[in-house]
Amino acid sequence: MIVIGGGLAGLSAGVALAETGWRVRLFEQRPYLGGRATSYVLPDGEHVDNCQHVTLGCCTNLEDFYRRVGSENKIRFFDRLLFQDPQGRTGVMQAGFLPAPLHMTGSFLSFAPLSTVDKSAIGRALFDILRGQGHTPDLDEPGGISMLEWLRRRKQTPGAIERFWRVVLVSALDEELDRTDARFGVDVFWKGFLSNRSGYRMGVPSVPLAELYDGCKMEIERRGGEVNLRMPVRAIHSEGDALTSVEFDGQRRERADGYVFAIPHQALAELLPAAIKEREPRLAQLDQIKVSPITGVHLWFDREVMQEPFVTLLDTTTQWIFNKTQLYGQGNGAGGGNGQYLQLVISASYDLLQKPRQEIVDLCLAEVHQALPHSREAKLLKSTVIKEAAATFSPEPGVDKLRPIQHTAVKGLYLAGDWTATGWPATMEGAVRSGYLAAEALLKDSGTPRSFLQPDLPVETLVRWLG
Ligand SMILES: Cc1cc2nc3c(=O)[nH]c(=O)nc-3n(C[C@H](O)[C@H](O)[C@H](O)COP(=O)(O)OP(=O)(O)OC[C@H]3O[C@@H](n4cnc5c(N)ncnc54)[C@H](O)[C@@H]3O)c2cc1C
Repeated sequence: MIVIGGGLAGLSAGVALAETGWRVRLFEQRPYLGGRATSYVLPDGEHVDNCQHVTLGCCTNLEDFYRRVGSENKIRFFDRLLFQDPQGRTGVMQAGFLPAPLHMTGSFLSFAPLSTVDKSAIGRALFDILRGQGHTPDLDEPGGISMLEWLRRRKQTPGAIERFWRVVLVSALDEELDRTDARFGVDVFWKGFLSNRSGYRMGVPSVPLAELYDGCKMEIERRGGEVNLRMPVRAIHSEGDALTSVEFDGQRRERADGYVFAIPHQALAELLPAAIKEREPRLAQLDQIKVSPITGVHLWFDREVMQEPFVTLLDTTTQWIFNKTQLYGQGNGAGGGNGQYLQLVISASYDLLQKPRQEIVDLCLAEVHQALPHSREAKLLKSTVIKEAAATFSPEPGVDKLRPIQHTAVKGLYLAGDWTATGWPATMEGAVRSGYLAAEALLKDSGTPRSFLQPDLPVETLVRWLG
């Protein structure tokens, strides 16, 4: 069988199918694997991630995938999340000794950037999610409601919205609250912060992202398959109700018993012939799924300016600062010598898309100087800005109606990708879930059903009791 696309969706489908004995031939247009969650080497030899990627304890399928390909030890989990505001007040989110959903109570009560009024408003809204076990009745309103509307209905204060809900959700969902379906927002808090004490733990790769996928090629090849890089599919051919071949440069055609298309929805919309769109009308509306941007700013200093592994900034353009030198471990790639390499992340970065790169560096550097006093004396050796205009699909209200399932009405055609129907937003977890679901759909059609999808973290006893 053929997999097109070597991002997490294609890799997880390919590895799962190879494991069941299928001969997998994977075709990726780029010279490296990982898709949007990858890294590459700059001309000066520096390894940079396309953008810092993090996972959470609740991402059970991504964890399973890393285990299958031998990368689980390349992810370091942190229990302590640090927040800092421009006035220098800090807050920590960390589980204490109480069971879920009370595990964060201690750190939440002492969270200095939020006032008591903010906290009691947040507590009420969280209790609402808890009572509904991750669901509230207004999420079912026709067309969905925005997260901002959901918060307004629960009388959240401006401080609570800006310094709590927005901070967590814009990073997790890559969209502003007024353009986010509340279903996704509520789910983040349910799975990440309420239902299980481990859901919020943050996993950060300790190697450049591309190194996480070394085991995928080995796993597919070991079972008789192949991974072909620099091989873009240029056309799709079908006859009647079946997909018959895919075409590469030089009019080379390849045939298989099944094809998993694991490419971004915009790319698929361009490739699909009209005959397939007519047979499967959901595939004719892919261009209605909107996208949102993420900007990464990479700064190399001549000395150490930060001691924490990462920090979340409040009330600034910069949302996260990652201390890449520390996360990679001394002498492993970044920074070199006594220098330090920081990576800043700005999700839903619509305002930055048109700005010149130097202006973005100046803006972020001023914020770094304010947050990290040691950086004021340090020399900035070099910087780079990576703008991803189409980083993720936008989780706007009603978007789920546009997301097709992995099985299609066209024989041989299966879909994977974070944008397909997984119930999850555009994340590495969503991409792996889609890959597993595509593999399951193909195996079911071939009469050898098998299950790959992993269950969510269990809902803890007290949480169930409070619901
Ligand atoms: C800047 C940024 C930051 C992010 N941060 C996080 C984060 O912290 N945590 C998180 O969970 N998620 C994050 N995400 C989202 C995450 O990267 C994606 O959800 C996930 O990687 C999508 O995987 P995918 O396989 O569905 O798609 P992709 O990774 O886009 O893979 C599709 C692949 O198909 C290939 N392709 C396209 N067309 C063709 C063709 N014609 N022929 C052959 N190959 C083709 C592409 O080259 C690509 O390799 C971030 C995304 C970005 C862009």
